[in-house]
Amino acid sequence: MQTTDRIVNADEILKDLPRINGVVPMYVDGNWRLAAEGDRRELDNPANGRVIATVAEGTAADAEAAILAARRAFDEGPWGSMSAADRAALLFKLADAIDAHRDEFMRIETLNNGKPLRETEYDAVDAANCFRYYAGLATKPHGQTFDVPAPSQTFTVREPIGVCGQIIPWNYPLLMATWKLAPALAAGNVCVLKPSELTPLSAIRLATLFEQFEFPPGVVNIVLGAGATVGHAIAASTLVDKVAFTGGTKTGRSIMTDATTNLKKISLELGGKSPNVVFADANFDTAVDYALFGIFANAGQVCSAGSRLIVERSLHDRFLERLVERTKKIRVGNGFDPQTEMGPIISSVHRERVEDYIGTGRAEGAKLLCGGGRLGGALADGNFIAPTIFDDTSPSMRIVQEEIFGPVLVVQTFENEAQAIALANDTIYGLAGAVFTQDIAKAHRVIRKMRAGITWINTYHPTYNEAPWGGYKQSGIGRELGTYGYDAYTEVKQINVNLDVEPSGWFSG
Ligand code: NAD
Repeated sequence: MQTTDRIVNADEILKDLPRINGVVPMYVDGNWRLAAEGDRRELDNPANGRVIATVAEGTAADAEAAILAARRAFDEGPWGSMSAADRAALLFKLADAIDAHRDEFMRIETLNNGKPLRETEYDAVDAANCFRYYAGLATKPHGQTFDVPAPSQTFTVREPIGVCGQIIPWNYPLLMATWKLAPALAAGNVCVLKPSELTPLSAIRLATLFEQFEFPPGVVNIVLGAGATVGHAIAASTLVDKVAFTGGTKTGRSIMTDATTNLKKISLELGGKSPNVVFADANFDTAVDYALFGIFANAGQVCSAGSRLIVERSLHDRFLERLVERTKKIRVGNGFDPQTEMGPIISSVHRERVEDYIGTGRAEGAKLLCGGGRLGGALADGNFIAPTIFDDTSPSMRIVQEEIFGPVLVVQTFENEAQAIALANDTIYGLAGAVFTQDIAKAHRVIRKMRAGITWINTYHPTYNEAPWGGYKQSGIGRELGTYGYDAYTEVKQINVNLDVEPSGWFSG
């Protein structure tokens, strides 16, 4: 750990970020600016609590400036008359630039978020590919024609929605920014993106690329600040045409309420408590491996985490014995250490929230199999929590029903297929879910009964830019990624052409 601390030089990693008076600014209307009211925020390295940078902390005034800039860019700027091919060319350049700076993006993300380099490498590669995917999609036709009675001809075109407010969380800062910006820009929209106040640095580095490739001023604005001020101002503004949000379900509800001011379009990607169902006939080693990956990747701070292991009773003891053995071997540490497999929790506030849930699990009478709290020793200065597994749970427990968003797995046990499905669906969430079995017919039966938007058979977590992402029930509204994600940033216009240009004669006078 100490060796790692010595090789991590925050100033060196962040040297290409813009600064005004030593403060990382926001990007509004093609300019770098500090917060209108002069506020700033210090960012900590979650692995050791040390300050890594000071950033501008905006308020509603900054959000409003960005929204006005975006409004002008959409209503009057050159962006609207740029061809889809030209927009695509810019996005392809951006993708290549992310690849060219991959190492830097990885290090910024590991420094700011804490997750291991092996994860931030995946995020940086995927971010470039996501821009590439949507650059490709920008030029593909999307309209339809309709056989309507003569002399009419009717067809549709897809048009951009306009000013899109985009509010994202801290768990995948670069990737979440990409999932929002790439489809919106490909479809011809303009954006006001608010990163999480905890992890704004990779979005700011991304903004330097928008500046470098001369996206017209106001097309992409990155506003920094807290959710209750900047986020709320974006969601409630009557000048914003759509708000796309990824974050907690409670915040999603407040954004939905804010959006009623002008009935703006909304996309919500919210929380989860996803079931990972393992039948006794599953490939044992594969199922154990993905159960681990499902919950402990990114320290469980994943909306689609497999946080409920639902295992067939006859397999339970053998499965848990192996799972616990492997869990205890997970190497927790500083994300810059190449040996690290699991990093810290994002902040001390969130670490305490996860610890509280672990306390709740104990108090509710669940059986702690491993982990159970904060890690000390060389990790004491960071927000590290030991990978934790609770067994002997009941469906009514809070640790079974509520999203913990940390490295805490709860185990549920079933006797038959119907019970497995009932348990899988027994939460307010419906984001993701998986089933492990070698009986392919059973796998399909169970998946089709699962009330979730993203499902896996004999795997956990793979996510593709090509396929739709989003949840059932209180896990969200709408879908990101794939053509669905593109369509979510378009309005559909119906165009009717009268091919017999004669008066209708409806009124006699
Ligand atoms: P959060 O809801 O606290 O914050 C998310 C974003 O919303 C941040 O930028 C925050 O500043 C902003 N925000 C907070 N309050 C706001 C308000 N009143 N108005 C407007 N904006 C506001 O979530 P978080 O703690 O950053 O992230 C964790 C949550 O995100 C988890 O619940 C997780 O499941 C969810 N998540 C979902 C997905 C998905 O695709 N479904 C992906 C990643 C994370």
